[in-house]
Order: sequence, then C-alpha cells, then structure tokens
Amino acid sequence: MIKFLDLHKINLPYQAAFHEKMQQVLDKGWFILGDEVKAFETNFANFCGTKHCIGVGNGLDALVLIFKAYIQLGKLQNGDEVIVPANTYIASILAILQADLVPIFVEPKLVTYNINPDLISEKITSKTKAILAVHLYGQMAEMDAVNSIARQYNLLVIEDAAQAHGAILDDRKSGNLSNAAAFSFYPGKNLGTLGDAGAITTNDDELVKVLFAIRNYGSEQKYYNEYIGVNSRLDELHAAFLNVKLPHLDNENELRRNIAKRYLDEINNDKITLPFWNQTHNHVFHLFVIRTQNREHLQSYLKQNNIETLIHYPIAPLKQNAFNPETSGWNSLVFPITEKIHQEVLSLPISPVMTNDEVDFVIQILNQY
Ligand SMILES: *Cc1c(COP(=O)(O)O)cnc(C)c1O
Repeated sequence: MIKFLDLHKINLPYQAAFHEKMQQVLDKGWFILGDEVKAFETNFANFCGTKHCIGVGNGLDALVLIFKAYIQLGKLQNGDEVIVPANTYIASILAILQADLVPIFVEPKLVTYNINPDLISEKITSKTKAILAVHLYGQMAEMDAVNSIARQYNLLVIEDAAQAHGAILDDRKSGNLSNAAAFSFYPGKNLGTLGDAGAITTNDDELVKVLFAIRNYGSEQKYYNEYIGVNSRLDELHAAFLNVKLPHLDNENELRRNIAKRYLDEINNDKITLPFWNQTHNHVFHLFVIRTQNREHLQSYLKQNNIETLIHYPIAPLKQNAFNPETSGWNSLVFPITEKIHQEVLSLPISPVMTNDEVDFVIQILNQY
C-alpha cells in the first residue's frame, strides 16, 4: 500500500532529537512563551527573510490575527472587503469571516490553480481593503501582479502561505512578499510539528507589536491588557520540534521536487492533466495535483492498485453547507473554473520519504490507466 502521506516515516529521522528536546523542556519546566518559541521566531524569520515572526496556535489563527491586528491599527474595519481566490481551503474564507470582514471571490487560473490577477480589478469597490493571496498546493501566486494592483488601489496584501513553506519567487521566500503572511505547521504541511501550530511573518514593526500582544490576551506586560486579544500561542514543545525540523526543510522540499519532476516527465496519459510548474518559481509541491474527467473512476482504480489519493478539495468553500449557500446567495455566484477544479482534481502521493520504487509504481499504474 502506498500511503498518501506517511507521517510516521516523515518524523522518524527526528525522533531521537525530539526525545532530547522533550527532556530539555521538561527539565526547564517552562512550557509557554519561552526560549524555544523565541528561538523559532528568530529562526523562521531568518528562513523567510522577514524582520519578524510571531508564533501562534495554528494556521487559521495566524490569518485571523493578521486581520484582527490590522483592525486594531485602524487599517481595516469590520465590513471591509477582502479579495480571495474562490478555490482555496476553507480556512482562508473562515479567517476573513471570523474577523468580521467580507470575502470577495475571484476565479483562479486553471493552469496554476492560483488567483487570476487579471480578474481582481473588476471586483474592487470602495470597501475593498485587502487581497488574501493563497499559494495553493505549494506554488506561489503571481505576487508581482497582485502587489502592483494592491499599490494601485492602496490595498493590504496578505499571504496564506500554509502550503508553501520555503517556496521562492524572484529570490524572495513565501512569507516575505506581502504585508503579512500566515503559516501552518499542522503535521501534514511541508514543515509540520506533532500537533497544531502556526506563525505569522511580517516586516511591519507596528503590526508585530499588536500581534505579540493579541495572541496572548492582548497583553504586552502580564495582567495589563492593551487590546482585546485571544489565546493563540505557539507551545514551547512544538517550537522545540520545529527548531529540530526547520534546518531540513529546504532539503525535504528538494526531495518533493525531485518526485514532482519524475511525475511530470514520466506520467504520460491523455486522460490525465499534469500540474503546471513555472520553472522560475521554486514550487515546493505540498501537493501534486492532477486533473481528470472521471475522477471517481481513476481514484478507485488507484485504490485497487494500492495507491492512496486524496481530493483537495471536493467542494468549493462558497458551496459548503456551513455558509448556507442557498440563503446567502453564494449559490448563485458563477465560478466555472473554480467548479471545474473542485470536480476534477486528485492529489497523488508525494513526500520526502517516498521511495524511488514507489514513484516508479505510481507512474507505471497511471500510464496503464
Ligand atoms: C492548512 C491550511 C490552513 C490552516 O492551517 P491550520 O493550522 O490547519 O489551522 C490555512 N490555509 C491553507 C491554504 C491551508 O492549507
């Protein structure tokens, strides 16, 4: 059986170091906002090339806190509109809603699965204040175009970089191409811990001051609360595990790219559309997403051949029951490219621990389909 993602195997090389870190944290007896978190914030900011990094509880909170901090700073107001790709993980949309902002959906490009910059301007109104760009599946959105529209209309740009740790565009890493960026360290991400964790990166000194406070009850000094905050801190233990794994991220991304190269070169089947990879971008292949007309058929064929696949994602966020698409009016919105993507995508196994034999087998089985 070729697993979609073998998290046990992915973490196996780090087990001894994890045990050691765990013992160190236990010996210190300090579990929240200590040296490991500080070290990780420095390490991850250095990795991304940003001035600041703020550890938080998870990726969704990272997004929500960016919006809430800009509201505290008066740069966003409740009811402001945020441009967002229509095909994303639901967290991007939930974050906008949780901050009492309004998502305005824009179609992606079918080839890149990322927001189509040419379709942004027509969605901009007097209430539009930000663009949330998502680097979906590990490929960077077209940030040059997004940022130039933002400059033209005086909008904030926020990156949802939860799938793109280490991706590079024109010598700049994901997390360093906008006003602020959100990362997730959920176990299955390219940089994943052993539970939930997240971070924000930014070069904005004003924003970072608010963020450090609102992740911790809005307090800069214990029991003195400057802002209406939340409890969303990065745990010492997770920070410790992340400090162990971060130095290996670039190498692990390279192993993913090597597999992606083989898939792209060697899968050859008219029924399968392979993902586009702009070779000037350092795609980190969080997911290797193909498209096919009869997805259920292909997925069950692969399953019969002991190859596990997943669908990212079967339903567009704006069609999810949670948003009552009938009554909200979202059902009547027409996004044909988004719909097509959600109907046709299928994610193949890809990870730094997949063996050559496994890659061979996936290619062979797909070519026989
Ligand atoms: C994983 C993910 C998130 C949310 O991260 P969590 O840590 O699970 O809260 C947000 N956006 C995208 C695109 C993601 O893939």
